[in-house]
Amino acid sequence: LATAQPVQEERLVVGVRVRPSLEATERCIEVISGGSLLYDDGGKSRPRKYSYDHVFKENDTQEQVYKTTTAPLVKDVLNGYNAAVFAYGATGSGKTHTMLGPVPRKKPSTADRGPSAVVGYEADVSNQDIGLMVRAIEDIFGHIEAAGPESSTKVSISYLEIYNELIRDLLNPGGPLELREDHRGQRITVAGLSEITTSSRKEVVSLLIKGNKSRTMEPTAANQTSSRSHALLSITVQTRTPLGTKQGRLFLTDLAGSERAKKTKNRGKRLQEGAHINRSLLALGNCINALSGGARYVNYRDSKLTRLLKEALSGRCKTVMIAHVAPESKHRDETKNTLVYADRAN
Ligand code: ADP
Ligand code: MG
Repeated sequence: LATAQPVQEERLVVGVRVRPSLEATERCIEVISGGSLLYDDGGKSRPRKYSYDHVFKENDTQEQVYKTTTAPLVKDVLNGYNAAVFAYGATGSGKTHTMLGPVPRKKPSTADRGPSAVVGYEADVSNQDIGLMVRAIEDIFGHIEAAGPESSTKVSISYLEIYNELIRDLLNPGGPLELREDHRGQRITVAGLSEITTSSRKEVVSLLIKGNKSRTMEPTAANQTSSRSHALLSITVQTRTPLGTKQGRLFLTDLAGSERAKKTKNRGKRLQEGAHINRSLLALGNCINALSGGARYVNYRDSKLTRLLKEALSGRCKTVMIAHVAPESKHRDETKNTLVYADRAN
């Protein structure tokens, strides 16, 4: 008689999301199943098949992406574990769409400005295109409400960017903030970072959209509003139980564009940014690679991004990487780079 083996839960899940084509042109990618796709290098060689844990095709919904990638992590976080979701990919590949959803492009009118104004940044919370960040928060609130009035759970969020290895608060923009480490290097915190406790869904959405607007945007040759920064949302869930307090944390990261410096014709400052971005993406790739290989030792020290995420990249934590690609053949090279990065993580 065969004995059932306990299912080894995967610590790393890798998905690839193909965004809808923005123009009617030749394509370099075809999704062939929920777990594989074909990449065409323009006829130089035969189309190559890549496989991942999940492949999301153009018309897959935000809800599908949420349910498959992030919902399982939310359950863990409510149970006191840490977890992380990363949106990886070149500028324009759909990272912010996945994480945040459609954001109002219009600048808020003068009437909307003012000390407490988050109006003008309001998005429809019930919009079916709303992204993973808001869905995760909604889901957490939903679980807490379902647990009934007896549950004493507190949710707080922080939202920061890492730009050129400098940390800035996106909920309360100002000068760069310092990373603090306790003497054993176990706990890493950001000094002075705002932590907001709220139970208003509308307020959370407005804060996120407003925060996203204050991300550092620099025009590059590849895209006028290329995001050169990593945006990191952290949702902390603290529950008091008769035995003490348990705390879980979910990190949701909209990574900086992964495009190569040479394509964006970067010089000087831009080139330096590119180097910083590639350094943290490389460090992240190395950590994730080590995780997927089941390595016992993972080096987090190489970048601020990986140091900040250490508690979600180690121990029993689960990590989801969603790599984003554009289907148009003019983006063939970046698409290939992303497929390879995600394949290495897989
Ligand atoms: P990134 O953050 O990677 O630079 P964006 O999220 O800004 O890319 O996406 C680029 C453009 O493509 C935006 O106009 C966005 O609305 C659109 N887009 C991306 N992914 C999707 C999707 N899954 N469905 C519909 N539109 C999308
Ligand atoms: Mg973006």
